[in-house]
Amino acid sequence: MTVNAYGAHAADKPLVALDIVRRAPGEHDVQIEIAYCGVCHSDLHTVRSEWPGTLYPCVPGHETVGRVSAVGAHVNRFKEGDLVGVGCMVDSCQACASCDEGLEQYCEGSGMVGTYNGPTLDAPGHTLGGYSQRIVVRDKFVGKVSHPEDQLAAVAPLLCAGITTWSPLKHWNVGPGKKVGVVGIGGLDHMGVKLAHALGAHTVAFTTSENKRADAKALGADEVVVSRNALEMDEHVGSFDMILNTVAASHDLDTYTRLLKRDGVLVLVGVPEHGHPSPSVYNLVSRRRAIAGSMIGGMAETQEMLDFCAEHGIVADIEMIPIQQIEDAYARMSRSDVKYRFVIDSASLATT
Ligand code: NAP
Ligand code: ZN
Repeated sequence: MTVNAYGAHAADKPLVALDIVRRAPGEHDVQIEIAYCGVCHSDLHTVRSEWPGTLYPCVPGHETVGRVSAVGAHVNRFKEGDLVGVGCMVDSCQACASCDEGLEQYCEGSGMVGTYNGPTLDAPGHTLGGYSQRIVVRDKFVGKVSHPEDQLAAVAPLLCAGITTWSPLKHWNVGPGKKVGVVGIGGLDHMGVKLAHALGAHTVAFTTSENKRADAKALGADEVVVSRNALEMDEHVGSFDMILNTVAASHDLDTYTRLLKRDGVLVLVGVPEHGHPSPSVYNLVSRRRAIAGSMIGGMAETQEMLDFCAEHGIVADIEMIPIQQIEDAYARMSRSDVKYRFVIDSASLATT
């Protein structure tokens, strides 16, 4: 089936309307009529070839929600009409140790297949993402959405921003009695603030933007620190159990490692185009501090996060755009001018 989509033909070309082909649903596939798709900074890194290996045409989008429009014969978990979401991956080997543990994002077999720019037998030989009218995905990689339908647009960002912050918060046992920092109040970490707060941690938001101070409090931060202000930073030296860092630009990590208490961990999830300067080893060894990384989350924890958010009334703060404004949205995201996630109204694809 041919559907309308938006994508780029090269790193230096703007996104334009494209026709793409979706496979007919196989026995284990779910076909989804996409209602909304969030705009992640990874979309921008990929479409502009800020990371190596982008295949063109590139159709980004991995925060996709909508309704099931058809299911394969062996699909039991979903039926036509269900509200569902698809995040950053659409397949994995299903046989390695990580897949067995429900951590498909770390698949050691064939590797996880990204929702866009991943290997596939479907035309054109790499996966095409959610800036499109429909998508066909193996059922295992589809999540059930139980939020009220009128919140669906604001649920879309949970599929990447939500799970990418949820997974490390859970892995490092964030909860009551823990002091947690979140760095970079953009798409990911505005969810990080909401989730850390909902999990019961003392949550501190770090921002470079003075004008986000009030918003960060409203999102659930107990304290807000403007990271450009050295005196404010000094008040927190040696005090954090965990700091989650989603900054999409190269910066000095020592600024944050020195804020960790003994055995504290700085978890990097931002993947900037250019690497960070080498961190101070002394800052780490002197307090047995660690720097770690984390990538999205597995399908079981994605469902756990969606259910937790539905139960606690948690959604993203969004600004809705028609697909025709995607270049403008990218430009604003590049200057940290997003409150706090752009979401594409997929109905706008009908008019391309
Ligand atoms: P975003 O909405 O652009 O947010 C990034 C935030 O970082 C900005 O809003 C800004 O917040 C802060 N920031 C930007 N430049 C900075 C600088 N030079 N110094 C300090 N802070 C700066 O991006 P996003 O969608 O949240 O994505 C963030 C990163 O995570 C991207 O690199 C993305 O590719 C990556 N990512 C990783 C995974 C994973 O699985 N690990 C998944 C999804 C995305 P303030 O204004 O508050 O300072
Ligand atoms: Zn993403």
